[in-house]
Amino acid sequence: MGLDPHVLRGDFPILRREVNGKPLVYFDNAASSQKPRQVIEAMTEYYFNHHANVHRGAHTLSVEATEMYEGVRRKVARFLGAADPASVIFTRNTTEAMNLVAHSWARSVLEPGDEIVVTAAEHHANLVPWHLLAAERGVAVRGVGLRPDHRVDLDELEEVVGERTRLVSTWHMSNVLGVINPIARIAELAHRVGALLLVDGAQAAPHLPVDVEALGADFYAISGHKMCGPTGAGALWARPEILREMPPFLGGGEMIRKVFLDSSTYADIPMRFEAGTPNIAEVIGLGAAVDYLETIGLDAIFEHDQALVRYALERLQALQGVTLYGPEGDDRGGILAFNIDGIHPHDVATALDQEGIAVRAGHHCAQPLMRTLNAQAMARASFYFYNTEGEIDRLVDAVAKAREFFAAFA
Ligand code: PMP
Repeated sequence: MGLDPHVLRGDFPILRREVNGKPLVYFDNAASSQKPRQVIEAMTEYYFNHHANVHRGAHTLSVEATEMYEGVRRKVARFLGAADPASVIFTRNTTEAMNLVAHSWARSVLEPGDEIVVTAAEHHANLVPWHLLAAERGVAVRGVGLRPDHRVDLDELEEVVGERTRLVSTWHMSNVLGVINPIARIAELAHRVGALLLVDGAQAAPHLPVDVEALGADFYAISGHKMCGPTGAGALWARPEILREMPPFLGGGEMIRKVFLDSSTYADIPMRFEAGTPNIAEVIGLGAAVDYLETIGLDAIFEHDQALVRYALERLQALQGVTLYGPEGDDRGGILAFNIDGIHPHDVATALDQEGIAVRAGHHCAQPLMRTLNAQAMARASFYFYNTEGEIDRLVDAVAKAREFFAAFA
C-alpha cells in the first residue's frame, strides 16, 4: 500500500511555511527530519501532566514518567527487531552511540595491532572515535574502497578483513551516496574472522525496516531526530551478551549498584550505560515518532523514497553539466548528492534557498569520500515520505535556473 504525502504533510506544521516568498521544499532530511504534530504533542503532554525524574521516586509522577520512558525502550527494541528491551541504550544520537562503543567496548578489548575496518564512505562519526582510540591504543583503522558504481568493494573488504580485525564498522545507508550496504553479507565476513559488526543506522532506520537479528549486526546506532523524533534522543542497540561484558561509559547516578567512598559497583544493562538524568521528554518524543512511522509503515516509506529518487535521478540526468553521485538500483534510498559544473555547491544551495528549497552543501561529514570522488563538496537533496514529485520538479527547475544564472558570469 502506497502512502499519500499530501495527506501526511498535514501533520507537519512547519511544511506550511514559506521561505523567501515561496512554499518551503524541505530536502534536508538526511541532516534532520521535520517533526509531526503527534511527536510535538506527546512531549508537551508529558510536560503538562507527567514530568518527574525517572527510576527514582515512589511517587505517582515519577512512576508514570518511568513507565513512559521504559515503554519507549520496548518500542525501540521492537522497531529494530530486537528481542530484549535491555539491549537498547538511550543516547543523544548516533554519534554518542558510536562513541559509547569506542569508549566502553573497544577500550576494554582492543590491543595494539588490532584492526578496525571501515569503508571510504563513512560519516566522521564512524571515523573520529576510532582515530582517538588508535592514538591511545595503537590499533589501526583500515579503509575499504568503493567500486566505480559507488558501492562498497566487497572483494576488497573480504581481503582486508583478516585475523587482526576485531571490528567492522560501517553505514547501513550512506548519507551521501544513498546506497544501502549489504549488511548481512558484511556481517558474515566480519564474523568469519571472529570480528564484531557495528552498523551506523543513522540514515537507514528512518527510511526502511530494520531487523538487527536478520542483519547479523552486533551493534546498531540510530538518531531519533532523523526519524521524526526530537533532537537529543537516539539509541545504541547491542547484543545483550556483549553489553553485559562492557564496562560503563559515563559514571554517576542511575548507573550504579553500590557506591563507597573509594569504589563502586555497577548496575546491570541497560542502566549501566545511562548515567544521570536522561533526556526523558525527548525519549518520549522518540517513542511517538516510532509509533508515527510504524503507522505509515516502513516498507511504504522506503518505496516512496525510492520512487522519488528514481524520478529525481531521471530528471536531473537530463540536465547538462550536472554530476550525480551514487548508484542506481533497488539498493538506493532517497538521498541524492550532485554538483553543477562551474558552480560551488554552497552557491547552488544559496540559489535553491532563494526558491524556497532547502538542500545541504558541503563535505557532509565525509571528507574521505569527497577525496575518493574528487569533489571538494557536493549539494545534497534528501527526501522523506512528506516530499512529492511536484517538489522535485521545483528542484529541477531551480537547478536549471541556477545553471543559467551562473553561466552568465562564466
Ligand atoms: N552517520 C551517518 C551516516 C549520518 O548521516 C549522521 C548524521 N549526518 C551521523 C552518523 C551522525 O548523526 P548525529 O549527528 O545525529 O549523531
